[in-house]
Amino acid sequence: MAMPRQLARGLWAKRQSRRREQRPLAECLPHINVNNLRIPRDYKTYTAPLISLRYPQISGIRLSAYFVEFHHSGRIQTFRLKWIKTGFGYPRPAFMCNCGRPVITLYFRYANLACRRCCNATYASRTLDERTRPILQAIRLRTFLQLKSGMSKRNRQRLEARLSRTTKPLELASKRIDDRTKLPQSNYSTRGAMHWR
Ligand SMILES: [Zn+2]
Repeated sequence: MAMPRQLARGLWAKRQSRRREQRPLAECLPHINVNNLRIPRDYKTYTAPLISLRYPQISGIRLSAYFVEFHHSGRIQTFRLKWIKTGFGYPRPAFMCNCGRPVITLYFRYANLACRRCCNATYASRTLDERTRPILQAIRLRTFLQLKSGMSKRNRQRLEARLSRTTKPLELASKRIDDRTKLPQSNYSTRGAMHWR
């Protein structure tokens, strides 16, 4: 039987609207890094206190060495944990997304937690080209030098030297590159807390 005209029109409109929607930037989505949760290493299950202060979307988290349970949007989402072997010391935990990928970060989109690929998110740097990407890198380094406290003098000099080598203008015209994407994405081989995270 042929498809009703209304349905065909509806499906076409849906496809078009998806095509128009830009892929979200991972840096702009609310996210949870497994390293910021205290994953227990014993056999008990724990409740993380006051979790909504740090993650406003989440009302509760239950943690064990095997799974993490997120209470949000009126439902519960559970992720198994995979312990990844490291050369030295303890194995490190990773979330197992429903797609089967072990990931360090889960992203929030459409009242759902999932890995970056399942959220169809991309990184800000991937939306740039070879001319603009170094500008974003320099902006992130400059922000890092402003935000980072308690860095050794040697490290600061090393990073300031790297910044002074770039002669690029430190502004980007792109509308998608907002302040969140300009935050440093790494610790630049320095020690200590990353307070902006
Ligand atoms: Zn996934």
